[in-house]
This record gives sequence, C-alpha cells and structure tokens, in this order.
Amino acid sequence: MAAGATGRPIADAVIVAAGASHRMGGIDKVLAPVGGRPLLAWTIEAIAASPAVDRVVVVTAPERVAAFASAPWLPTSVTAVTAGGATRQASVAAGVRQLTALDPDGFDRPVLVHDGARPMVSPALVTAVAEAVARYGAAIPVLSVAETIKRVGEGMVLETVDRSSLAAAQTPQGARRRLLEQAWTVYPPDGERQFTDEAAILEACTIPVHAIPGEPANLKVTLPDDLLRVGQALAPARARVGFGHDSHPFGPGTGLRLGGVEIAGAPRLAGHSDGDVALHAVADALLGAAGLGDLGRLFPSDARTPVGVASEDLLREVVARLGAIGLRPASADVVIIGVRPKLGPRLDAMRDAIARLLCVPAGAVNVKASTGNLAGDEGAGRSMAARAVATLEPA
Ligand code: MG
Repeated sequence: MAAGATGRPIADAVIVAAGASHRMGGIDKVLAPVGGRPLLAWTIEAIAASPAVDRVVVVTAPERVAAFASAPWLPTSVTAVTAGGATRQASVAAGVRQLTALDPDGFDRPVLVHDGARPMVSPALVTAVAEAVARYGAAIPVLSVAETIKRVGEGMVLETVDRSSLAAAQTPQGARRRLLEQAWTVYPPDGERQFTDEAAILEACTIPVHAIPGEPANLKVTLPDDLLRVGQALAPARARVGFGHDSHPFGPGTGLRLGGVEIAGAPRLAGHSDGDVALHAVADALLGAAGLGDLGRLFPSDARTPVGVASEDLLREVVARLGAIGLRPASADVVIIGVRPKLGPRLDAMRDAIARLLCVPAGAVNVKASTGNLAGDEGAGRSMAARAVATLEPA
C-alpha cells in the first residue's frame, strides 16, 4: 500500500495564484467571490483536504503577498505565502524554493503543483497523484478527449486528428523535488524556453511522467461562465424554508378576517390584532425562513402594536423586512384548521389575497382547510388554527 493511503502525509503542495486573468474580463479569478470567500480559499482547502498533503505553499504576485498572508479568508492549512515570478515556471520555482527552505533534506519528497483556479479537485485525486509520484517519480492527471479533434487553418478543416492517443492535462501535477530541480538546471525557470506545465519541462528532459485518470469536474476557471458553474457546485444557494403556526379563539362580533378576506356573518376571532390566524401563520413561516424570529416579537400584543391592527399590514411589514435583507417570498402552503365556518368556497379568494400580499403569482400559494376529525378547541368550534410553510428566494 502506498503511504498516502494510510493517511500519512507524503507530499507538499505549491498552489500557483500569480497569473493575470486575461480571459476573465478584468476579474481577478482567484479572488472572485464564491459562497462568500475567494475562489483561491476553496482551492487551498481542496488540496489540504487530502491526507497525503503536508505543507501548502501559496505563490502570488509580490505586491499581494502581505495581504494574502494576513487575509482572514486564508485557510490555516497554508504553511507560507511566497512571491512569484514573471512566468508560471518562475512562480512554481519560487514555491519549490520555499519548500526547500522549510525542509532542506526533503529532496526526494513529492511536490504537487496545482492551479489556484482549480477549486473542484477532489482530495482523492490529490492523494492519487501524490501516491503515483511516490511510486513513479512524476505523475499528472489526464482526461481522455471526448470530442472529435480537427486540425483547422484559415477557417477550414485540414484533417481529423486521431484522438485515441490524446489527453487533456490537469493539475495537480507532481514530481519528486529533485526531479524538478534537475529539470530547472537544464531549462532555468527564468530562461528563454518556457513550458506551459511541469510535465512539459520534465518531458523535455526525458524524465518519465506517469499519467493517471483525471476528473471531469476538476475544471480550471478560465471564463466568467466557469465561475458561475463552480459557484453552483461549491456553494449552492441554501434552501430557505420556514414553518408557522397560530391559533385564536372565537370572540364577540361577526365579520371574520381569515386569509386576507372577510367572511361576513361568521364569528370573528379574538386577538390584539384582527385575529387572522392564516396570515399570522404565513408571517411566522416567512420570518422563520429568514431567521428573523417570529411575529410576536416583531409586533408584541401590547401598546406597541395598535389594537385591531389589520393583519395585512403586519404581513406587508414582514415582506418589507425580508426585502431589507435581500430576500423575498417564493411560495407558501397554508392549512386552516377548524370545524366552522365552511371555508371551501373561500379558499381561492384567500389564496389570491395572500399571493398579492407576498407579491408572488397565485400559483405559488396554496390554501387548504382541515375540518374533519378535529380534537380540542378547534374540534369543538371554539377556535381556529392555521399552519403554514413558506420558502424564500434572493430578492
Ligand atoms: Mg396570532
């Protein structure tokens, strides 16, 4: 069994985040926010999550080293932040020099070099590359090419290339430190001949590089659309769901307020407000989904809340509070519980009224009644209750 599979760290990593983002329309892709922190933080954590990885050196532009090193988003797994050079190779060499300074005797240790813009690499792939380096000296992950490949020139297809021997190279790419240093004595990092990856310079020195299967998900963020894809995968929007419950006894007088409509002739529900249990349950569900507490805390049943206040006004205020923190209602499902009055003919009107108050299409609201086999005060016709589930979305 290779050492990495035992969970023992067998490799160090250099994460390169020094390049400009030419194709990102001016966005610095490694600092682009994903789920509230820079893309680079995700990449670092993905690499450090492999039990095969020990030290993690991040290489960035010299003017950014101090800011990165003290940034609150920098994962604690980072051993050092180092200034890179003018080219990718010079930056990688700077990272490897840092490892040499930290571990002068570790010349046989595998070094993994990873793109700062590849945050979706799995810990399993990182471990597999480290183990392949420990076994073979140098290794890279590759993906077979799915599309038919054409050689084109001046807008014309010149020929179809046999893709069976072609593969796309990913990172992390790894080699024992001494092999990288050996290659750089032949092709200095700041020399004339530049290579697009570590494997290429090893190949040029006829150092064998082992290929292992890469991962389709391990994409390199290059275009703004890639950033969107990575964001959806790493930090999917959290489902915001809330639950609400309310119950009021019947009181004196008629003209029941329920679900935002008035049912003339039916007894009113008693309460500090107009007693609309359905709207109160919806309001509580919305507040719960937003993490904003509950209706009772927002509108206490005392002098701070006007007696007989319309529940529509309370619900409008709740929707405004959601808007203030960037949320809005997406849907609501309400069940009204009680043996009287008959609600069947009024359910659609309540649905429409609630949808208007929430500023959502009528189809996003459902109102139903539970009238049979009820126990307690609801079953005895002394009170009505309502329960609601609501979901929110970004405003
Ligand atoms: Mg209430």
